[in-house]
Amino acid sequence: MKFDLNILGCGSATPTVRHNPSSQIVNFRDKLFMVDCGEGAQVMMKRLGLKFSRLSHIFISHMHGDHCFGLPGLLSTMSLHEKGGMVTVHMQSEGIKVMEPMIRYFCDNTAYDLRFEPLPAQGVVYEDDGLTIETFPLYHRLPCSGFIFREKPSLLNLRGDMVRFHQIPVRQLHAIKCGADFFKDDGTVVPNSHLTLPPRRPVSYAYCSDTVMDRRVAASVKGVDVLYHESTYADDYEVQAVHRGHSTARQAAKIAAMAGVHHLILGHYSKRYRDLSPLLAEAREEFPAVSLSDEGRVFDLNGLARQ
Ligand SMILES: [Zn+2]
Repeated sequence: MKFDLNILGCGSATPTVRHNPSSQIVNFRDKLFMVDCGEGAQVMMKRLGLKFSRLSHIFISHMHGDHCFGLPGLLSTMSLHEKGGMVTVHMQSEGIKVMEPMIRYFCDNTAYDLRFEPLPAQGVVYEDDGLTIETFPLYHRLPCSGFIFREKPSLLNLRGDMVRFHQIPVRQLHAIKCGADFFKDDGTVVPNSHLTLPPRRPVSYAYCSDTVMDRRVAASVKGVDVLYHESTYADDYEVQAVHRGHSTARQAAKIAAMAGVHHLILGHYSKRYRDLSPLLAEAREEFPAVSLSDEGRVFDLNGLARQ
């Protein structure tokens, strides 16, 4: 079951020739969810073959331009592509006040219904049969939201040999996958544990855009499988990181260790680092399983969770 992370942009502040500002697409079973929408996001979607028609929810972490300036362009292009259905933009209510009039001005008469949904400080902001998305607070220079994608537990796996042995009718299989016992015609009960195997462990992914290092972030993302955490600076800018509401790669790794995650992905790099290897090395001194994000890189979250 597909659960991929596509990096569209992992630079901070402004676009450069090396990096786009923040944006990524979580592909969950071919439904696309965008998290942040810096400039260049729509071009990267095309480069990666990600279809606008599959994108219906966009989550904006906060109202700094490097996280939302791509939104008017993307939504306008999506309208020209005659995408139907509904597109929901989840962002802070202050952001909606600023962005909604501008976007409606440029995206008049969209083929899709455009909705703006204010983000709560905390809680579930999206749910379907297979997935929940939660938001939680980050600690930046203005209100900022993180997001956790949690796959829902799947049903129990049927043991084919036992299903055949007990000649269980097809109409009862769904109930057994949900945990029911099987009652034979003679009144005997076959317990569910004889008929099924445990399901695959569900996978979770957390996105932490701009934030200072804060224990409350570690508590919010505790136990997720894969964590994307901003790492704007290396150790050389640790003092400036605090003043600017950002983290160093080492601090991101400390959060990953505190939270007990399985894998850490770094991003939101300052343009002062042409070579990112010091960020990776410093992070790995605190936490072993670290990857660098890069534009166009696709992470298989199922694979990373099981490494
Ligand atoms: Zn910011």
